[in-house]
Amino acid sequence: MQPGMAPVHVLVFPWPMQGHINSMLHLTAGLLGAGLHITFLHTDHNLRRVDRANAAASPRLRLMSVPDGLPDDHPRSVDDIKDLGRSLRTTGSVAYRALLASLLVDDGGFPKLSCVVADGLLPFATDIAEALGVPALAFRTESACSLLAYLSVPRLVELGEVPIPVGAELDAPVHCVPGMEGFLRRRDLPSSCRLHAETHDVDPMLQVLVSYTAHSSRARALILNTAASLERSALAHIAPHMRDVFAIGPLHAISAATALPTSLWREDDGCMAWLDGHADRSVVYVSLGSLTVISLEQFTELLSGLVGAGYAFLWALRPDMVGASPKEAIEKAGNGGKARIVDWAPQRDVLRHRAVGCFLTHAGWNSTLEGVVEGVPLVCWPFFMDQQINSRFVGTVWGNGVDMKDVCERAVVERMVREAMESGELRTSAQALAQQVRRDVAEGGSSTTEFHRLVSFIKQLSC
Ligand code: UDP
Repeated sequence: MQPGMAPVHVLVFPWPMQGHINSMLHLTAGLLGAGLHITFLHTDHNLRRVDRANAAASPRLRLMSVPDGLPDDHPRSVDDIKDLGRSLRTTGSVAYRALLASLLVDDGGFPKLSCVVADGLLPFATDIAEALGVPALAFRTESACSLLAYLSVPRLVELGEVPIPVGAELDAPVHCVPGMEGFLRRRDLPSSCRLHAETHDVDPMLQVLVSYTAHSSRARALILNTAASLERSALAHIAPHMRDVFAIGPLHAISAATALPTSLWREDDGCMAWLDGHADRSVVYVSLGSLTVISLEQFTELLSGLVGAGYAFLWALRPDMVGASPKEAIEKAGNGGKARIVDWAPQRDVLRHRAVGCFLTHAGWNSTLEGVVEGVPLVCWPFFMDQQINSRFVGTVWGNGVDMKDVCERAVVERMVREAMESGELRTSAQALAQQVRRDVAEGGSSTTEFHRLVSFIKQLSC
């Protein structure tokens, strides 16, 4: 802080799900490192789950919450996302407005609020802030290539490319997402571009996401958790649609020195000692993120493929991920000695461990970036949102892994896991990509330079 300059206080408000909370907490850690005061806004439901160690991490950080408007026992999985969105827009937004109004005075301990950074999936949060005279920036936690796809949807609809009918040729090329003409196929577009397999209805999330994406252009700036060297072309095509764009990722690598605990689940650290007992690059790490739910049939195919590949594996298997009792099935598959199952892993530490040889992931953006930074080859099995396009970039543009999209058969799993564990070419590409991204987040690199520009931008807004 320059002498004489009033302290800057930013309210950071993520969409209340793990992946969003993680990247916005990494942003928070970076802003704290730059001397700013931060109010991190959870929902009441999540605040009861988080590690309060965050609150003690810095006297310039405090955690606050607003109700999400759902009863406490109401499910908050990806299938309930519409209920959550609706109740946040109604009950949540009223409480948020009242909270912002109360932060506009210096309360002694914390300076007056100067600026809001709100998740791009909470457009009401930027609108309300601006209406109260508080400048607001939007943060989208997904990849730039996915955001560009949403920006391109109106044109795709005009051309009749979207929505994609059931039974359409999914390998057909998509020509009008700028910069991706050579490799993007229908199957790589965000999942909501496809008609519902049974009802043939348009996914209502498509319109919601398209309108939220367009709404980000009203924010003072758009912040993306990506690096120029990863997504230069997508960033260049997004820039004309926004007032300003900051590409400051991978944030977990930028803010590593001041990392804050991020998990809503209790991490099972026991798997680190288990990894210690394994040879270098001999273990497959499997995680499908915080939201994905799979059928028993998919689980059985995945398990059979993993067992068939013959490597030891560590599987982060949330208790709510499969309907039946998967742990017993793993025991029965005869792989007991070679498999370690945890409900929730300390994923970034796991990926950094020398014993991990590849990462079977759903290609959520945080997981993809975490795998990229550690130079670990990826096997991608995408489910929804940006995962389809992320996995195409992994398989075709960056070359740091393979894409298992739309197929989960044991023979395919086995083949792809073997390829990721054994291919020198994939490993070399993954490590080269890691080097490149580490340069972006080092002092003087593009992401760090953009991060400093963001801090100055926020300070200017606050004057
Ligand atoms: N994660 C974790 N332990 C697990 C599984 C996931 O710490 O056992 C973290 C992971 O490191 C990532 C986040 O949860 O930061 C998941 O975010 P992502 O964007 O990959 O997927 P989502 O959960 O949003 O589908």
